[in-house]
Amino acid sequence: MNYKEVLAQIEEYDHFIVDEVIMQLYPEISEAIKDNNTYVVFNPEESKNFHDYQKIVDHFIDKKITRHDQIVAIGGGALSDLAGFVAATLLRGIDWVIIPTTLLAMIDASIGGKVGINLKQGKNLVGAFHKPKEILVCPHFLSTLPDLELTSGQGELLKYLFLSRDIFSKAQSETDFQNLIQICADYKNEIITLDPFEKGVRAYLNLGHTFGHAIEKLIHMPHGVCVYYGLKMIFAFFNEPNYKVLEEFVSKFKLEFPELGKLNIDDIFGYLEQDKKRKNLHEVDLILVDDIGSPYAKGFDIKNLKSIIMGHKNYENFFRK
Ligand code: NAD
Repeated sequence: MNYKEVLAQIEEYDHFIVDEVIMQLYPEISEAIKDNNTYVVFNPEESKNFHDYQKIVDHFIDKKITRHDQIVAIGGGALSDLAGFVAATLLRGIDWVIIPTTLLAMIDASIGGKVGINLKQGKNLVGAFHKPKEILVCPHFLSTLPDLELTSGQGELLKYLFLSRDIFSKAQSETDFQNLIQICADYKNEIITLDPFEKGVRAYLNLGHTFGHAIEKLIHMPHGVCVYYGLKMIFAFFNEPNYKVLEEFVSKFKLEFPELGKLNIDDIFGYLEQDKKRKNLHEVDLILVDDIGSPYAKGFDIKNLKSIIMGHKNYENFFRK
């Protein structure tokens, strides 16, 4: 969809939750929605919390929103997670539409209806499944995305190369990384259709996320950058041949991830103990890939997992002694 079509579509709606950055960078959008019931979110990741959720819900209730209305979310994944949680819960759920404005949101966060907010204990710990009625993807928004946010989307995209043989083959023959966007979005759509509530195969999309979320909690880096390092760790400790393949793709597509620095293993495991993807009090499921295109989940006792990693020759690539 091109930008003109997005603007025309916006005219059809009345209720918006929009990232303030988009209001600044896209005056045509702020002009188009200025007379509507719009809630502007400053710093969406910081606003994915109960306090801001409450303010948004109050805003729309005061504006007399009804169950027949729809909310349009315009922004990246943090914005749509928050807006979607509002849509899922307001008046027991109303329809919503997403206009994703980051690469990460286009290939992942906008697809599949997982919505939610963060708690002080961790990310996305309160949420729901509430699929948007429509997703309007317009690559024009990528033209203003800061380099680090583009890198973040690329980090998230890399996981798909290991989840699907088709995507892996396409990535081998492709020279432009951006050309993989559609095939990854289509793949996610297929998976969430098969398993909408993450009872099975959808969990494979969490490849790299167990460590990725822990890293994200500990250091201030965009989500997809942390997922990239989470992916690297999984391969370094459990599927070494893929570690090499990952690095080959990074170099082939000239992707540049910021340095992570060495982490403290106790901090990572402190986080894992309360990760929501934990199986039970003592076990966590990791998504592993031995053969590209055939991911699987394997449960680990958390204490054993820590010993495996501490005893691994790659330990010092990621962790302080
Ligand atoms: P984001 O919404 O925080 O956007 C990243 C940054 O880019 C923000 O500073 C934002 O203001 C800015 N921005 C957005 N669009 C822009 C544009 N077009 N030009 C310039 N700047 C722009 O986050 P994100 O990286 O899109 O997504 C990360 C979030 O998505 C995390 O909270 C993560 O938990 C969530 N997520 C959700 C799912 C899901 O299935 N629901 C999947 C993956 C990630």
